[in-house]
Amino acid sequence: MNENIVKRNALLSKTVIKGLESRNMTGYYAENAEEAKKLALSLIPEGSSVGMGGCMSANEIGLVDEIKNGNYTFIDRAKEDPREAMLKTYDADFFLSSCNAITNDGVLVNIDGNSNRVSAIAQGPRKVIFIVGMNKVCDDVDGAMKRARNVAAPINAQRFGLDTPCSKTGQCLDCKSPDTICCQFLITRFSKHKDRIHVILVGEDLGF
Ligand code: SF4
Repeated sequence: MNENIVKRNALLSKTVIKGLESRNMTGYYAENAEEAKKLALSLIPEGSSVGMGGCMSANEIGLVDEIKNGNYTFIDRAKEDPREAMLKTYDADFFLSSCNAITNDGVLVNIDGNSNRVSAIAQGPRKVIFIVGMNKVCDDVDGAMKRARNVAAPINAQRFGLDTPCSKTGQCLDCKSPDTICCQFLITRFSKHKDRIHVILVGEDLGF
């Protein structure tokens, strides 16, 4: 990555972390994927139960493989009955997630179709660890919502082969398609419980 982008990401992360702290959440900055993985593992004691939604970023940094192969109870949605997995995840020690966008003052924005991800972020798992590439940082909630709907959602719709307008045009047309993945919007502006939400910002592009 260009050294000026690296510098900019490190500088901007300080503002985002300050914003997160003002919202009762904990922020960290990792310069790269390897550092982010080590940092996440340092927050998750061995023996913990760990669930996740569809989090590309945690996969990209190698965290999911470490959890699957390590001394943890990984709740694997691909191998379990989906409802059973969802209920176990609500009672998990940790939930891994990314976000669709984050504002530079620490507000997290997520959209969801099935809504298992946004509901687990809001309540349930004892702790939530977000892995967030600095490419997700936006100026404000309006910008974050636009990013979620015009960047993240169309790419996800294409990824899952969904029949939505955005999967064909690459932009949100505010559909009510049965395939829509924009059923719920979660704006996390404050954490009621201190030490529940931890956000690891990564100075690389992760997810979309
Ligand atoms: S509302 Fe519909 S068109 Fe807009 S991003 Fe969501 S799925 Fe795509």
